[in-house]
Amino acid sequence: MWMSTLARFARPVFQRSPSPVVCKAMKACRRMELPAPSFCMTPVHIRRHQTLGSAPMPVAAHSMRHVRALDEERLMAVEWEDGGQSLYPFTWLRDNCQCPRCTLQSAEARLLLMADLDIHTGMDSVEVTKDGKVSIVWPDQHMSVFDAEWLKKRCFSDAARQAMQEELFLNERYYWDATLHIPQADFQEVLHDDGAALAWLLALRRVGIVHLKGAPAEQGQVARLAERIGYLRLTFYGHTWQVQDKSMANNVAYTSGKLSLHTDYPALHFAPGVQFLHCINQAKEGGESEAVDGFHMAEQLQREDPEAFRTLTSLHVDFTDTGTDYCDFMLQSKNRIIDVDSEGKVTRINYNNATRDSVLDLPLHQVQPFYRALRAYVDIMNRPENVVTYTMKPGDIVTFDNWRLLHGRKSYISRPDRLRHLEGAYLDWDEVMSRLRIVRRNVHGDAWASDKRSHLHRKT
Ligand SMILES: [Zn+2]
Repeated sequence: MWMSTLARFARPVFQRSPSPVVCKAMKACRRMELPAPSFCMTPVHIRRHQTLGSAPMPVAAHSMRHVRALDEERLMAVEWEDGGQSLYPFTWLRDNCQCPRCTLQSAEARLLLMADLDIHTGMDSVEVTKDGKVSIVWPDQHMSVFDAEWLKKRCFSDAARQAMQEELFLNERYYWDATLHIPQADFQEVLHDDGAALAWLLALRRVGIVHLKGAPAEQGQVARLAERIGYLRLTFYGHTWQVQDKSMANNVAYTSGKLSLHTDYPALHFAPGVQFLHCINQAKEGGESEAVDGFHMAEQLQREDPEAFRTLTSLHVDFTDTGTDYCDFMLQSKNRIIDVDSEGKVTRINYNNATRDSVLDLPLHQVQPFYRALRAYVDIMNRPENVVTYTMKPGDIVTFDNWRLLHGRKSYISRPDRLRHLEGAYLDWDEVMSRLRIVRRNVHGDAWASDKRSHLHRKT
């Protein structure tokens, strides 16, 4: 069963002394009053829970002591039994009325039009019903009823919003270096067991790389795995693609040469989020795979060379890819080597030296600083203490976060009687996260997503 697999998952990764990164994350958890993510667990806790995926979501039944309308501020105040308080704007409550006139319940979608929403609405009355829900009557006598649990999760406090965003997007990351033991799972179990699939996808999200073992050593397995998620991402290299030494190669990957650390497809403005690579046949000599944690390396760059970090997070670099495969293509893109969000948090790495264009759209005085910054980042990722090296065997599938990891391979000896052959496929994070949320709901019951659906079962 999958429990034994999950144990393999958690232990090699987390039974190390906590790194400064982990400690920082633990402090952040305490500050945010969030449950510590799995990687904060001590070995004792790991033994109890065994896994990233098995710790159930805490289900706290929240009940209300009191509810009142603050008419002047146009806020509804809820006092919880535990002494806490939550505030909800009238406009937001009216906008999210869950009744069948305001919500198409079969689609969980809003029917109420923005044009029909009074964004300055008052509230005629509000009370806690006998069954512990909030009942509101609006000035036009329309009535709304809200579950306590549904409201609690949507509390507007910083801590509650942060907890909800973490539940939805799992943005906590476990940073690693060369000492990482890559998490493993069984290919067949992942295909057929939701618990195994959940552990796989959680580790893929948190750690960024997972090895699946035991796939048949023949083509078609990455497509099966993509079907387990939903569907794969078609690109100019086809639905799936064969990494082999090819004459007149249309990509440097299709040779027997060394591939320096890179992300795939920065020549697209929206590079594939997730990559699967299945080893069907390995070279007799060479061909070892390499990977680094690009987010962790970016953090090191920011600490060691803030100027270089600023350069790579601000300048847009041209990438290009031209050739014929699925059909003919002539791609151009502009990407920042290190993408950050509006708060400066690293969200995506875009770097492939082979497809970085000779067209460089920078004023003269920025050219040399750009090279200096890029070289500083590459030098950090090439440090032996940062690179994980592994050899894929026939039947192994490596699954990894292509927005975060840079991967490469050593050169290999190409021989006609022993052809190295990998089959690859791309997916996007939206589809992968969608499957993760569904298997999490299947494994943990409705605890994770119950409030989104509970109104379906409620008589209104
Ligand atoms: Zn309504």
